[in-house]
Amino acid sequence: MTIRFSDFELGPELLKGIADVGYETPTPIQSKTIELLLSGRDVIGCAQTGTGKTAAFSLPILQKIAPGGPNPQALIIAPTRELADQVHKSIVDYSQHMPVKTVVVYGGASSRFQEHQLRDGVDILVATPGRLLDHVRNRLIRLYDLKFLILDEADRMLDMGFIPDIEEILSYVPRQRQTLLFSATMPPAIEKLAHKMTQDAEMVVAGNRSSTASSVTQSVYHIHKNDKYAFLLKLLKQNELTSVIVFTRTKIGAGQLAKTLIQAGINAAPIHSNLTQIQRERALDGFRQGTFSVLVATDIAARGIDINHVSHVINFDTPTHAEDYVHRIGRTGRAEATGIAITFTSREEMKYLKAIENFVGHSIPVAEMAEAPQRQEAARTKATTASKEDRAPKETPAKRKPSRPARPEKKAETAPAVEAIRNESPPQRAESQRTSSEAPRTTPRSEHSERQPRGRKSPRQQRMSSENAWTRTQPATNTQDASWAKAYPPATTRAATSPRHFFLRDEVEYLN
Ligand code: AMP
Repeated sequence: MTIRFSDFELGPELLKGIADVGYETPTPIQSKTIELLLSGRDVIGCAQTGTGKTAAFSLPILQKIAPGGPNPQALIIAPTRELADQVHKSIVDYSQHMPVKTVVVYGGASSRFQEHQLRDGVDILVATPGRLLDHVRNRLIRLYDLKFLILDEADRMLDMGFIPDIEEILSYVPRQRQTLLFSATMPPAIEKLAHKMTQDAEMVVAGNRSSTASSVTQSVYHIHKNDKYAFLLKLLKQNELTSVIVFTRTKIGAGQLAKTLIQAGINAAPIHSNLTQIQRERALDGFRQGTFSVLVATDIAARGIDINHVSHVINFDTPTHAEDYVHRIGRTGRAEATGIAITFTSREEMKYLKAIENFVGHSIPVAEMAEAPQRQEAARTKATTASKEDRAPKETPAKRKPSRPARPEKKAETAPAVEAIRNESPPQRAESQRTSSEAPRTTPRSEHSERQPRGRKSPRQQRMSSENAWTRTQPATNTQDASWAKAYPPATTRAATSPRHFFLRDEVEYLN
């Protein structure tokens, strides 16, 4: 028997709002959660992205609060502005026939406007942790009337180091409340915290916590890191893709990739947490409306983004955290639609791919298309080895091994598709190839480090100087390529900082 929204104890105004947004039957996570929250239970919810979790917690709240009080009765904490905004919009839609006031507060937006809205009273508050605490400390928000506390995307919140903020927020809320912790993935540490925050909570799991939607076709290309851009461009142009999210690991990477794609004639826009809220909204709205066909995003900025028509997700960088893979590809194949998820994996990223495959419990098919990336990888590996040999200090004649007769170049073996990709690659690649194979290195790395004694510099200065050293030895033909090289330094440069550290330092400071 099909469950309908009218089977729950939801008022007519709320049912009308649900019908107006076009929902006919509840999703599995909604069926389970709505009933539990209406009966007064705490819930720990684990559901794949795009399963309808927002309505799952919003509808019971809307049913149970008594609108019109001065202080919020429900608080929804989200890790990013985008998610907070989206949850706010959904609640406003569901409650369009109800006298409920929902306010959203997050960093990067006018504090004055938020203060003005809060002064008039609020029933449901959606907030990111940092700005919420600012308002609480300034006594603009009083949380002592709270009946519902919701932690959305809790795993990411904890991942991003918001635990101290959450703990402080917990000290302001009444003990007598209903708590719901929602998370797309539920590593053991989060599960532990969830049980600490909730009382006698019911665990609701819709689908396997590490599973990916069956509506998403997944594939991986083994490709050299320097060939990723050219191959991406080829994919976008050849297939005339019009609704694609491309994920990069860093904000700089997202900005540079978007810029380079625009220069190549692709309608792309970046979205990352270094952009202003207005820029981020413009990028999202433009992508929703089809003005931009490609959104180049970092994990955090794209988290929770709900855009139904995304046809492709392309992982330009293989996610370093297996759970991010599930989140990223969850941006496509939403609301019963089908989607395609493509992952570019370089040799250096193979360990991440293996971790992802372990996490999702299956191997990701290696794409055969043109076989270009694989052959190219092999060819490039050879080229790299050759250029390393070129750079190696010359052996003394006594030590030199007997030389083999030189092999003829295997150029004829190269597939035409490889040539096509090479022709499309950015000038920097051609330039760097020329540098390694033809021109002698003018500034060896060791020489540079001798001139800049490490001990006298801060870690940040050291990192910057090592990046500069790299870009100097890989001369770029124009500023675009210089910045491209900076955005994608070689593995040796990145190794100075762990991927996790890199990610946190890069992203978190801008979030609230
Ligand atoms: P969420 O997981 O809350 O981000 O929701 C993912 C998408 O599913 C959003 O576009 C929702 O509007 C849509 N959605 C949520 N619940 C339903 C439902 N019961 N029927 C149809 N679409 C839904």
